[in-house]
Amino acid sequence: MTVPPPAAPGMKLAEVETPALLIDLDAFERNLRAMAEAVGPTGLRLRPHAKTHKSPVIARRQLALGAVGVCCQKVSEAEVLADGGVDDVLVTNQVVGARKLERLAALARRVKVGTCVDDAQNARDLSAAAVRFGAEIEVLVEIDVGAGRCGVAPGEPARTLAGEVATLPGLRFGGLQAYQGAAQHLRRAEEREAAIARAAELTRQTVALLAGAGLECRTVGGAGTGTYALEAASGVWNELQCGSYVFMDADYARNLDAEGAPVAAFEQALFVLSTVMSQPAAGRAVLDAGLKALAFDSGPPLVHGRADLRYEGASDEHGKVAFEATNAPLRPGDRLLLVPGHCDPTVNLHDWYVAVRGLSWEGAFVEAVWPVAARGAGF
Ligand SMILES: *Cc1c(COP(=O)(O)O)cnc(C)c1O
Repeated sequence: MTVPPPAAPGMKLAEVETPALLIDLDAFERNLRAMAEAVGPTGLRLRPHAKTHKSPVIARRQLALGAVGVCCQKVSEAEVLADGGVDDVLVTNQVVGARKLERLAALARRVKVGTCVDDAQNARDLSAAAVRFGAEIEVLVEIDVGAGRCGVAPGEPARTLAGEVATLPGLRFGGLQAYQGAAQHLRRAEEREAAIARAAELTRQTVALLAGAGLECRTVGGAGTGTYALEAASGVWNELQCGSYVFMDADYARNLDAEGAPVAAFEQALFVLSTVMSQPAAGRAVLDAGLKALAFDSGPPLVHGRADLRYEGASDEHGKVAFEATNAPLRPGDRLLLVPGHCDPTVNLHDWYVAVRGLSWEGAFVEAVWPVAARGAGF
């Protein structure tokens, strides 16, 4: 038993079941092209992060536009992507535990697989799994360049670990993973510049230290949608891992450029289509999209094109919208497009994408329905 899709090709927006995860295909395709055109001329490699979309269909669109492969965070995501025709996957995460390492090694028999390490014993376990499966796994040593997540300290600890990785059978030392995740959503351009300048310095020094020890970094990976232009200009990174740019969200829309205006490089392309269930009182309506249709870690959704409506509270299946009592009332059956606060965890709440052409209340039609194939692939 699987959940049927909330729409079928050819349907009008009014016929789509709600809540539904909608892709505005025109905006989505412009985002794909904009990133490809921004990175292409730099000569750097683009390896988009598939944790955003969890979809081999979308990954293949990115590859068709020049991406060298994709990133993901979990072995099960990598398996779904490989099964869906993606032949080069980097797990930008620590893979810990015998079963997970064996699954990764088994996958490396089928497609090109890379992963990150920040621990020598984990690297030895990975090596043992690779040897057992007769596989070769590319390994990036992850350094913490300010995000305070995983990663050894830059400099000497990274050299020590890289030196050990380089001696381990079944592993190919590939370089460094240096993702400054905490910089992505810093609001002001100067704050992002300062954070990436610091990360660049730490990474540059570490690359040089490794080179001095005969450890060449073929790959220096990192960067996200908020900062990729800075990493690209630094001359330090050569592989960019942006993910959210395909969809964007309300939180990224709050990032400001050097002039203090919202960053306009990419467009909102992901929405949750929702229906008004009730208007129990003047100035208050209830939608059918709550905690099970939207992620709230980066704040509530915005109501697209309706600055007069404020999504102000959610429970499992209900979303409360407030507005001036003098506004025209919302009626049960009315539909609204919500801009998710945070795209990645919102996607993971849905089984299906409803991909819509010509997004508008009148002319839009469903062009495709794609599974969120790696939804729930957290292991
Ligand atoms: C999430 C993530 C990215 C992509 O970041 P976006 O802000 O979604 O573009 C890149 N690299 C790593 C390691 C990540 O975890």
